[in-house]
Amino acid sequence: MHYFGFKNGQLYCENVKVATIAKTTGTPVYIYSKRTIVEHFRKIDEAFAGVDHLVCYALKANPALAIIKTLQKEGCGADIVSGGELYKALRAGIAPEKIVYAGVGKTRAEIETAIKSRIFMFNIESIPEAERISAVAKKLGKTVEVALRINPDVDPDTHHYITTGKKENKFGLNISKAKEYFLAAARLPNIKVCGIHTHIGSQITKVEPYVLTLKKIIALKAILEKSGLRITRLNIGGGLGIIYDNETPSTPANFASKVLPLLKPLGVKVILEPGRFIVGNAGIMAAEVQYIKKGEVKNYVILDAGMNDLIRPSLYDAYHDIVAVKKTSGKLKADIVGPICESGDFFGKNRVIDKVKEGDFVAVMSAGAYGFSMASNYNCRRKPAEVLVDGSKFKIVRKRETYQDLLNGESF
Ligand SMILES: *Cc1c(COP(=O)(O)O)cnc(C)c1O
Repeated sequence: MHYFGFKNGQLYCENVKVATIAKTTGTPVYIYSKRTIVEHFRKIDEAFAGVDHLVCYALKANPALAIIKTLQKEGCGADIVSGGELYKALRAGIAPEKIVYAGVGKTRAEIETAIKSRIFMFNIESIPEAERISAVAKKLGKTVEVALRINPDVDPDTHHYITTGKKENKFGLNISKAKEYFLAAARLPNIKVCGIHTHIGSQITKVEPYVLTLKKIIALKAILEKSGLRITRLNIGGGLGIIYDNETPSTPANFASKVLPLLKPLGVKVILEPGRFIVGNAGIMAAEVQYIKKGEVKNYVILDAGMNDLIRPSLYDAYHDIVAVKKTSGKLKADIVGPICESGDFFGKNRVIDKVKEGDFVAVMSAGAYGFSMASNYNCRRKPAEVLVDGSKFKIVRKRETYQDLLNGESF
Protein backbone atom coordinates (compact mmCIF):
# COMPACT_ATOMS: atom_id res chain seq x y z
CA MET A 1 0.00 0.00 0.00
CA HIS A 2 1.25 3.48 -0.82
CA TYR A 3 -0.04 6.94 -1.62
CA PHE A 4 1.13 7.43 -5.19
CA GLY A 5 -1.55 7.19 -7.84
CA PHE A 6 -3.24 8.77 -10.83
CA LYS A 7 -6.16 11.20 -10.61
CA ASN A 8 -7.49 12.68 -13.86
CA GLY A 9 -4.43 11.46 -15.71
CA GLN A 10 -1.95 13.12 -13.33
CA LEU A 11 0.36 11.30 -10.93
CA TYR A 12 -0.10 12.42 -7.33
CA CYS A 13 1.85 11.85 -4.16
CA GLU A 14 -0.86 11.99 -1.48
CA ASN A 15 -2.75 15.19 -2.48
CA VAL A 16 0.04 16.89 -4.39
CA LYS A 17 0.68 16.64 -8.12
CA VAL A 18 4.13 15.23 -8.81
CA ALA A 19 4.40 17.64 -11.77
CA THR A 20 3.88 20.61 -9.41
CA ILE A 21 6.76 19.45 -7.22
CA ALA A 22 9.01 18.77 -10.20
CA LYS A 23 8.34 22.26 -11.59
CA THR A 24 9.01 23.88 -8.23
CA THR A 25 12.19 22.05 -7.26
CA GLY A 26 13.59 21.14 -10.64
CA THR A 27 14.62 17.59 -11.48
CA PRO A 28 15.79 15.03 -10.67
CA VAL A 29 13.98 15.01 -7.35
CA TYR A 30 13.11 12.30 -4.85
CA ILE A 31 9.56 12.59 -3.52
CA TYR A 32 8.50 10.78 -0.34
CA SER A 33 5.03 10.20 1.09
CA LYS A 34 4.98 10.73 4.85
CA ARG A 35 1.70 8.88 5.25
CA THR A 36 3.11 5.80 3.51
CA ILE A 37 6.18 5.80 5.77
CA VAL A 38 4.09 6.09 8.93
CA GLU A 39 1.60 3.42 7.87
CA HIS A 40 4.32 0.96 6.95
CA PHE A 41 6.00 1.42 10.31
CA ARG A 42 2.69 0.96 12.12
CA LYS A 43 1.89 -2.21 10.19
CA ILE A 44 5.05 -3.87 11.48
CA ASP A 45 4.77 -2.40 14.95
CA GLU A 46 1.15 -3.52 15.31
CA ALA A 47 1.83 -6.98 13.88
CA PHE A 48 4.27 -7.58 16.75
CA ALA A 49 2.14 -5.97 19.45
CA GLY A 50 1.72 -9.39 21.09
CA VAL A 51 5.35 -9.52 22.24
CA ASP A 52 7.85 -7.17 23.87
CA HIS A 53 9.46 -5.74 20.74
CA LEU A 54 11.46 -2.89 19.26
CA VAL A 55 11.33 -1.87 15.61
CA CYS A 56 14.68 -0.39 14.56
CA TYR A 57 14.51 1.29 11.15
CA ALA A 58 17.58 0.37 9.07
CA LEU A 59 18.92 3.83 8.31
CA LYS A 60 20.94 2.73 5.34
CA ALA A 61 17.75 2.29 3.28
CA ASN A 62 17.19 6.04 3.42
CA PRO A 63 18.89 8.25 5.99
CA ALA A 64 17.03 11.49 5.18
CA LEU A 65 16.75 13.36 8.50
CA ALA A 66 13.09 14.15 7.78
CA ILE A 67 12.34 10.43 7.40
CA ILE A 68 14.24 9.44 10.54
CA LYS A 69 12.41 12.22 12.42
CA THR A 70 9.03 11.03 11.11
CA LEU A 71 9.78 7.53 12.39
CA GLN A 72 11.26 8.77 15.68
CA LYS A 73 7.96 10.52 16.45
CA GLU A 74 6.23 7.16 15.94
CA GLY A 75 8.48 5.59 18.57
CA CYS A 76 10.71 3.79 16.10
CA GLY A 77 14.35 3.00 16.89
CA ALA A 78 17.33 2.79 14.54
CA ASP A 79 19.52 0.04 13.13
CA ILE A 80 22.86 1.62 12.24
CA VAL A 81 25.99 0.38 10.49
CA SER A 82 28.40 3.32 10.82
CA GLY A 83 29.45 6.29 12.92
CA GLY A 84 27.73 8.52 10.38
CA GLU A 85 24.44 6.75 10.83
CA LEU A 86 24.81 6.99 14.61
CA TYR A 87 25.35 10.73 14.22
CA LYS A 88 22.27 11.16 12.04
CA ALA A 89 20.06 8.95 14.22
CA LEU A 90 20.98 10.95 17.33
CA ARG A 91 20.57 14.28 15.51
CA ALA A 92 17.08 13.21 14.45
CA GLY A 93 16.27 12.57 18.10
CA ILE A 94 16.25 8.78 18.21
CA ALA A 95 16.75 7.73 21.83
CA PRO A 96 20.12 5.98 22.27
CA GLU A 97 18.37 3.13 24.07
CA LYS A 98 16.58 2.39 20.79
CA ILE A 99 19.73 2.15 18.65
CA VAL A 100 21.29 -1.16 17.60
CA TYR A 101 24.63 -1.24 15.82
CA ALA A 102 25.56 -3.90 13.21
CA GLY A 103 28.25 -4.16 10.52
CA VAL A 104 31.41 -6.22 10.00
CA GLY A 105 33.96 -3.40 10.18
CA LYS A 106 33.29 -1.18 13.20
CA THR A 107 36.35 0.97 13.94
CA ARG A 108 37.66 1.74 17.44
CA ALA A 109 36.51 5.34 17.11
CA GLU A 110 33.01 4.28 16.05
CA ILE A 111 32.76 1.81 18.93
CA GLU A 112 33.94 4.40 21.43
CA THR A 113 31.42 6.99 20.27
CA ALA A 114 28.61 4.44 20.32
CA ILE A 115 29.46 3.34 23.87
CA LYS A 116 29.70 6.94 25.08
CA SER A 117 26.32 7.63 23.43
CA ARG A 118 24.86 4.73 25.48
CA ILE A 119 23.30 2.87 22.56
CA PHE A 120 21.06 -0.12 23.27
CA MET A 121 23.37 -2.82 21.96
CA PHE A 122 25.97 -3.96 19.47
CA ASN A 123 25.38 -6.76 17.00
CA ILE A 124 28.81 -8.35 16.82
CA GLU A 125 29.96 -10.05 13.63
CA SER A 126 33.29 -11.66 14.65
CA ILE A 127 35.38 -12.64 17.66
CA PRO A 128 38.07 -10.01 16.94
CA GLU A 129 35.26 -7.44 16.98
CA ALA A 130 34.02 -8.79 20.32
CA GLU A 131 37.56 -8.44 21.68
CA ARG A 132 37.79 -4.89 20.40
CA ILE A 133 34.41 -3.84 21.87
CA SER A 134 35.37 -5.47 25.16
CA ALA A 135 38.69 -3.58 25.23
CA VAL A 136 37.12 -0.23 24.39
CA ALA A 137 34.36 -0.73 26.98
CA LYS A 138 36.96 -1.64 29.59
CA LYS A 139 38.98 1.47 28.83
CA LEU A 140 35.83 3.57 29.26
CA GLY A 141 34.86 1.75 32.46
CA LYS A 142 31.53 0.62 30.99
CA THR A 143 29.79 -2.69 30.40
CA VAL A 144 27.91 -3.01 27.12
CA GLU A 145 25.18 -5.39 26.05
CA VAL A 146 25.75 -7.33 22.87
CA ALA A 147 24.25 -9.90 20.55
CA LEU A 148 26.29 -12.12 18.28
CA ARG A 149 25.17 -12.14 14.68
CA ILE A 150 24.71 -15.68 13.52
CA ASN A 151 24.96 -16.71 9.92
CA PRO A 152 22.30 -19.46 9.80
CA ASP A 153 23.21 -20.69 6.29
CA VAL A 154 19.70 -20.16 5.00
CA ASP A 155 18.93 -19.24 1.40
CA PRO A 156 16.51 -16.30 1.42
CA ASP A 157 15.79 -16.75 -2.29
CA THR A 158 16.68 -13.22 -3.37
CA HIS A 159 19.31 -11.52 -5.59
CA HIS A 160 22.77 -12.91 -4.75
CA TYR A 161 24.12 -9.40 -4.08
CA ILE A 162 21.62 -8.94 -1.26
CA THR A 163 21.88 -12.37 0.32
CA THR A 164 23.63 -12.10 3.68
CA GLY A 165 22.82 -15.28 5.58
CA LYS A 166 24.52 -17.99 3.56
CA LYS A 167 27.76 -19.53 4.73
CA GLU A 168 29.74 -17.98 1.87
CA ASN A 169 28.65 -14.43 2.87
CA LYS A 170 30.95 -12.24 4.98
CA PHE A 171 28.30 -11.58 7.61
CA GLY A 172 27.91 -13.07 11.04
CA LEU A 173 29.37 -16.12 12.75
CA ASN A 174 28.89 -19.60 11.40
CA ILE A 175 26.05 -21.38 13.16
CA SER A 176 27.88 -24.70 13.34
CA LYS A 177 30.49 -23.18 15.68
CA ALA A 178 28.11 -20.75 17.36
CA LYS A 179 28.33 -22.26 20.84
CA GLU A 180 32.13 -21.87 20.90
CA TYR A 181 31.83 -18.28 19.73
CA PHE A 182 29.22 -17.36 22.31
CA LEU A 183 31.20 -18.89 25.14
CA ALA A 184 34.38 -17.17 23.97
CA ALA A 185 32.61 -13.80 23.82
CA ALA A 186 30.95 -14.35 27.18
CA ARG A 187 34.37 -14.77 28.82
CA LEU A 188 35.47 -11.29 27.68
CA PRO A 189 35.33 -8.52 30.27
CA ASN A 190 32.95 -5.54 30.06
CA ILE A 191 30.55 -7.08 27.57
CA LYS A 192 27.35 -8.86 28.43
CA VAL A 193 26.25 -11.35 25.79
CA CYS A 194 22.47 -11.36 25.94
CA GLY A 195 21.20 -11.68 22.38
CA ILE A 196 21.26 -13.54 19.09
CA HIS A 197 21.09 -11.51 15.89
CA THR A 198 20.32 -12.62 12.35
CA HIS A 199 19.73 -10.72 9.13
CA ILE A 200 19.57 -13.08 6.18
CA GLY A 201 19.20 -10.71 3.25
CA SER A 202 16.99 -8.16 1.59
CA GLN A 203 13.87 -8.10 -0.60
CA ILE A 204 12.75 -11.44 0.84
CA THR A 205 9.18 -12.17 -0.20
CA LYS A 206 8.61 -15.47 1.59
CA VAL A 207 8.27 -16.20 5.31
CA GLU A 208 9.82 -19.68 5.19
CA PRO A 209 13.48 -18.51 5.26
CA TYR A 210 12.69 -16.51 8.41
CA VAL A 211 10.94 -19.43 10.05
CA LEU A 212 13.85 -21.71 9.21
CA THR A 213 16.32 -19.18 10.61
CA LEU A 214 14.27 -18.67 13.73
CA LYS A 215 14.05 -22.39 14.40
CA LYS A 216 17.83 -22.62 14.13
CA ILE A 217 18.47 -19.75 16.54
CA ILE A 218 15.86 -20.96 19.01
CA ALA A 219 17.66 -24.31 19.08
CA LEU A 220 20.91 -22.43 19.60
CA LYS A 221 19.37 -20.43 22.45
CA ALA A 222 18.48 -23.67 24.22
CA ILE A 223 22.03 -24.98 23.79
CA LEU A 224 23.52 -21.75 25.11
CA GLU A 225 21.23 -21.72 28.13
CA LYS A 226 22.34 -25.23 29.05
CA SER A 227 25.84 -23.76 29.16
CA GLY A 228 24.66 -21.06 31.53
CA LEU A 229 24.24 -18.15 29.07
CA ARG A 230 20.97 -16.26 29.39
CA ILE A 231 19.61 -15.03 26.06
CA THR A 232 16.96 -12.36 26.57
CA ARG A 233 16.87 -10.74 23.13
CA LEU A 234 16.35 -12.13 19.65
CA ASN A 235 16.94 -9.84 16.69
CA ILE A 236 15.37 -11.24 13.52
CA GLY A 237 16.77 -8.52 11.26
CA GLY A 238 15.12 -6.84 8.30
CA GLY A 239 14.74 -7.87 4.70
CA LEU A 240 10.97 -7.87 4.23
CA GLY A 241 10.31 -7.58 0.50
CA ILE A 242 8.09 -5.12 -1.33
CA ILE A 243 6.31 -4.93 -4.68
CA TYR A 244 8.44 -3.48 -7.47
CA ASP A 245 6.83 -5.36 -10.34
CA ASN A 246 4.64 -8.41 -9.79
CA GLU A 247 6.12 -9.83 -6.58
CA THR A 248 3.73 -11.13 -3.96
CA PRO A 249 5.53 -10.43 -0.69
CA SER A 250 4.24 -11.60 2.64
CA THR A 251 2.46 -8.91 4.64
CA PRO A 252 3.72 -8.02 8.14
CA ALA A 253 0.55 -9.55 9.60
CA ASN A 254 1.14 -12.83 7.78
CA PHE A 255 4.84 -12.71 8.67
CA ALA A 256 3.98 -12.18 12.33
CA SER A 257 1.37 -14.96 12.29
CA LYS A 258 4.13 -17.40 11.31
CA VAL A 259 6.93 -16.21 13.59
CA LEU A 260 5.04 -15.09 16.70
CA PRO A 261 4.00 -18.60 17.73
CA LEU A 262 7.72 -19.44 17.83
CA LEU A 263 8.71 -16.25 19.65
CA LYS A 264 5.94 -15.88 22.22
CA PRO A 265 6.79 -18.86 24.44
CA LEU A 266 10.40 -17.63 24.76
CA GLY A 267 9.57 -14.46 26.66
CA VAL A 268 12.40 -12.60 24.94
CA LYS A 269 12.54 -9.06 23.61
CA VAL A 270 12.16 -9.21 19.83
CA ILE A 271 14.04 -6.73 17.67
CA LEU A 272 13.20 -6.08 14.00
CA GLU A 273 15.25 -4.08 11.51
CA PRO A 274 13.10 -3.20 8.50
CA GLY A 275 14.46 -0.75 5.97
CA ARG A 276 13.10 -1.31 2.48
CA PHE A 277 9.66 -2.31 3.76
CA ILE A 278 9.15 1.07 5.43
CA VAL A 279 10.50 3.41 2.75
CA GLY A 280 10.77 1.48 -0.54
CA ASN A 281 7.30 2.20 -1.87
CA ALA A 282 7.13 5.51 0.00
CA GLY A 283 9.36 7.23 -2.55
CA ILE A 284 9.72 7.95 -6.24
CA MET A 285 12.29 9.75 -8.32
CA ALA A 286 10.94 12.27 -10.81
CA ALA A 287 13.05 13.28 -13.80
CA GLU A 288 12.64 15.34 -16.95
CA VAL A 289 12.88 13.92 -20.46
CA GLN A 290 15.77 15.61 -22.27
CA TYR A 291 15.73 13.85 -25.62
CA ILE A 292 14.00 11.12 -27.50
CA LYS A 293 16.78 9.51 -29.47
CA LYS A 294 16.10 7.11 -32.29
CA GLY A 295 18.92 4.55 -32.47
CA GLU A 296 19.72 1.83 -35.01
CA VAL A 297 17.81 -0.87 -33.17
CA LYS A 298 16.17 0.90 -30.27
CA ASN A 299 14.74 4.17 -29.12
CA TYR A 300 16.09 5.91 -26.06
CA VAL A 301 14.30 8.19 -23.64
CA ILE A 302 17.14 10.19 -22.15
CA LEU A 303 16.45 11.65 -18.70
CA ASP A 304 18.18 14.30 -16.61
CA ALA A 305 18.61 11.63 -13.89
CA GLY A 306 21.41 9.09 -14.04
CA MET A 307 22.78 6.03 -12.33
CA ASN A 308 24.50 8.35 -9.85
CA ASP A 309 21.02 9.33 -8.62
CA LEU A 310 19.54 5.81 -8.57
CA ILE A 311 21.95 2.94 -9.07
CA ARG A 312 19.71 -0.07 -8.37
CA PRO A 313 18.98 -0.96 -12.01
CA SER A 314 22.71 -0.79 -12.88
CA LEU A 315 23.93 -2.50 -9.72
CA TYR A 316 21.35 -5.24 -9.17
CA ASP A 317 19.54 -5.27 -12.49
CA ALA A 318 16.63 -4.17 -10.31
CA TYR A 319 13.23 -3.51 -11.82
CA HIS A 320 11.52 -0.16 -11.24
CA ASP A 321 8.22 0.75 -12.84
CA ILE A 322 8.60 3.92 -14.94
CA VAL A 323 5.60 6.08 -15.79
CA ALA A 324 4.85 9.40 -17.45
CA VAL A 325 3.76 11.80 -14.73
CA LYS A 326 0.92 12.98 -16.99
CA LYS A 327 -0.88 10.34 -19.01
CA THR A 328 -0.74 10.90 -22.77
CA SER A 329 -2.38 9.18 -25.69
CA GLY A 330 -0.17 6.76 -27.53
CA LYS A 331 2.68 4.58 -26.41
CA LEU A 332 6.35 4.35 -27.11
CA LYS A 333 8.86 1.56 -26.65
CA ALA A 334 12.34 2.54 -25.52
CA ASP A 335 15.22 2.11 -23.14
CA ILE A 336 14.95 4.70 -20.38
CA VAL A 337 18.48 5.94 -19.76
CA GLY A 338 20.50 8.67 -18.08
CA PRO A 339 23.15 11.10 -19.31
CA ILE A 340 26.14 9.35 -17.73
CA CYS A 341 29.05 8.03 -19.75
CA GLU A 342 28.44 4.35 -18.98
CA SER A 343 26.42 1.76 -20.86
CA GLY A 344 25.17 0.60 -17.46
CA ASP A 345 23.43 3.93 -16.99
CA PHE A 346 19.82 2.87 -17.48
CA PHE A 347 16.59 2.72 -15.50
CA GLY A 348 14.66 0.30 -17.67
CA LYS A 349 15.09 -1.54 -20.96
CA ASN A 350 12.54 -2.18 -23.71
CA ARG A 351 9.82 -0.41 -21.76
CA VAL A 352 6.49 0.52 -23.20
CA ILE A 353 5.42 3.79 -21.63
CA ASP A 354 3.06 6.64 -22.43
CA LYS A 355 4.35 8.66 -25.36
CA VAL A 356 6.53 11.32 -23.75
CA LYS A 357 8.41 14.18 -25.37
CA GLU A 358 11.18 16.60 -24.44
CA GLY A 359 10.31 18.49 -21.26
CA ASP A 360 7.81 15.91 -19.93
CA PHE A 361 8.31 14.45 -16.50
CA VAL A 362 8.58 10.75 -15.76
CA ALA A 363 8.62 8.98 -12.41
CA VAL A 364 10.77 6.03 -11.46
CA MET A 365 8.57 4.28 -8.92
CA SER A 366 9.44 2.45 -5.66
CA ALA A 367 12.66 4.42 -5.30
CA GLY A 368 12.44 5.27 -1.58
CA ALA A 369 14.89 2.59 -0.41
CA TYR A 370 18.53 2.37 -1.53
CA GLY A 371 17.85 5.25 -3.92
CA PHE A 372 19.15 8.53 -2.60
CA SER A 373 21.17 6.66 0.03
CA MET A 374 23.33 5.18 -2.74
CA ALA A 375 23.53 8.40 -4.79
CA SER A 376 26.96 9.71 -5.70
CA ASN A 377 28.59 12.63 -7.46
CA TYR A 378 29.82 10.53 -10.38
CA ASN A 379 30.35 12.64 -13.52
CA CYS A 380 30.43 15.64 -11.15
CA ARG A 381 26.69 15.56 -10.93
CA ARG A 382 24.98 17.26 -8.04
CA LYS A 383 22.97 15.02 -5.75
CA PRO A 384 19.24 15.55 -6.27
CA ALA A 385 16.76 17.35 -4.05
CA GLU A 386 14.47 15.46 -1.68
CA VAL A 387 10.88 16.40 -0.89
CA LEU A 388 8.54 15.11 1.82
CA VAL A 389 4.83 15.27 1.08
CA ASP A 390 2.34 15.46 3.95
CA GLY A 391 -1.27 15.54 2.76
CA SER A 392 -1.69 18.63 0.59
CA LYS A 393 1.64 20.14 1.60
CA PHE A 394 5.16 19.43 0.50
CA LYS A 395 8.52 20.51 1.80
CA ILE A 396 12.04 20.39 0.39
CA VAL A 397 13.83 18.39 3.09
CA ARG A 398 17.14 18.42 1.28
CA LYS A 399 18.19 21.00 -1.27
CA ARG A 400 19.71 19.98 -4.53
CA GLU A 401 23.49 20.25 -4.26
CA THR A 402 25.07 23.33 -5.82
CA TYR A 403 28.16 23.45 -8.00
CA GLN A 404 29.89 25.08 -5.03
CA ASP A 405 29.06 21.93 -3.01
CA LEU A 406 31.10 19.94 -5.52
CA LEU A 407 34.25 21.77 -4.35
CA ASN A 408 33.66 21.13 -0.63
CA GLY A 409 36.85 20.29 1.19
CA GLU A 410 38.93 20.34 -1.98
CA SER A 411 42.03 22.41 -2.68
CA PHE A 412 44.82 22.63 -5.21
C1 LIG B 1 20.48 -3.65 5.49
C2 LIG B 1 20.15 -4.21 6.80
C3 LIG B 1 18.82 -4.22 7.25
C4 LIG B 1 17.68 -3.72 6.43
O1 LIG B 1 17.43 -4.48 5.32
P1 LIG B 1 16.09 -4.23 4.45
O2 LIG B 1 16.15 -5.25 3.40
O3 LIG B 1 16.18 -2.85 3.91
O4 LIG B 1 14.94 -4.40 5.36
C5 LIG B 1 18.59 -4.72 8.51
N1 LIG B 1 19.59 -5.19 9.29
C6 LIG B 1 20.87 -5.19 8.89
C7 LIG B 1 21.92 -5.71 9.80
C8 LIG B 1 21.20 -4.70 7.64
O5 LIG B 1 22.47 -4.72 7.23
